[in-house]
Amino acid sequence: MIPPLILQNTFAKALQPLTKLIHLYLGVFLSDEKFFYSHLDHACAVKPYAPDECFLCRQSGPVDTVRERELEASEIMAKRLKCLESISWSTFFVQGNGGGERSTTKWVLRKDGKIRMKGTPWS
Ligand SMILES: [Zn+2]
Repeated sequence: MIPPLILQNTFAKALQPLTKLIHLYLGVFLSDEKFFYSHLDHACAVKPYAPDECFLCRQSGPVDTVRERELEASEIMAKRLKCLESISWSTFFVQGNGGGERSTTKWVLRKDGKIRMKGTPWS
C-alpha cells in the first residue's frame, strides 16, 4: 500500500495544472487496505452488511483514522489547488445523511491566507 500522504500529494501535484478546478470527486477510499478484509471477517455471510453498519468496525478505531485522513488529504488538495471549493472522497463511513452515496465531502474556506475546512458548505 502506498502511504496516504504520498498518495494525496501525488494526486494534488498531478491536478495542479487544472488551475480553475472548483469541485473535485476522487473515488478513492482512504481506509487501510486491510480494513475491508477485516470487515469481511465480521460480516455475516447470511446477511452481509456494510462497514458503517458494523459495531466492530466502528469500535475498533478505523472510523476516526479514516476521517482524519480525509480531512488531511482534503487540506493537501486545497493547498495545491487554489480554486478548489469542495473535494469528495469515497468512504465506508458516510457522515450524516449521505443520500445513499458512499462519499464524503469537505468544503474549503479561504480567508486571510488560511484554509479552513468542514463537512458542510460555507454560507
Ligand atoms: Zn466490520
